[in-house]
Amino acid sequence: MNEKEKFDKLKLEELRTQLEFFRQLGVDFLVEPHRQPAERPIDNSSRPELISGEHFQGSEGDQQAEWDRLIQKILNCRFCPLFKTRTQAVPGEGNWKAQLMFVGEAPGRDEDFQGRPFVGRAGQLLTKIIQSMGFSREEVYIANVIKCRPPENRTPRPDEIKACSHFLLKQIEMIRPRVIVTLGKVATEFLLQSSRSMSELRGHFGEFQGIPVMPTFHPAYLVRNERNKQIRKMVWEDMKQVMKLLKS
Ligand code: SF4
Repeated sequence: MNEKEKFDKLKLEELRTQLEFFRQLGVDFLVEPHRQPAERPIDNSSRPELISGEHFQGSEGDQQAEWDRLIQKILNCRFCPLFKTRTQAVPGEGNWKAQLMFVGEAPGRDEDFQGRPFVGRAGQLLTKIIQSMGFSREEVYIANVIKCRPPENRTPRPDEIKACSHFLLKQIEMIRPRVIVTLGKVATEFLLQSSRSMSELRGHFGEFQGIPVMPTFHPAYLVRNERNKQIRKMVWEDMKQVMKLLKS
């Protein structure tokens, strides 16, 4: 076998592995990669209601500068005691003009170490889900309700959420996504203000300030239950609804 044949075989093997993963996720079709326009057309009529009612109206450059200032504020924040135990704050990652936003709970150990959201095992799974939807990580925005890792990855406390969540709200206000996917109970409870179980909430769009919100299970839950195909299938069903709404 020559070098080219070896390379082709390797690529085919990678593709086979990825397709098998999608199959295990319950993906029953593949979609063309989503092509996002370089610049999203401004259409006030279709925009969701603004979070604060004071949306920044400056030029593209001014908006970028405001976004950069927000990220810097998060990186330097010491509003709550979590700054003492973090390695670094994790503001979020992706396209701040994305149509689709994912919101999780808080950074974990890998995220705290790398300064990026969803990079551990659960993050790799989230990346596969995003790709299965026809997007890349760079095309969506991924953030958490709180920006610093709680010690031992414990669930964030209400006072920590209260101290930090204004950053997420500002991010949502600036991104103004067409759809938000909440990953797990903390993000879902925060944005939908509902204490109902994830099993009850997932699969149905809620709404946050005019933005459709699809709650689904946290990828870490999928990792913990990796043999449970039913849970993977439910997550994929939720994502199919999101894709349908984005195409409408
Ligand atoms: S968790 Fe949020 S409020 Fe607390 S220090 Fe980090 S960025 Fe600041």
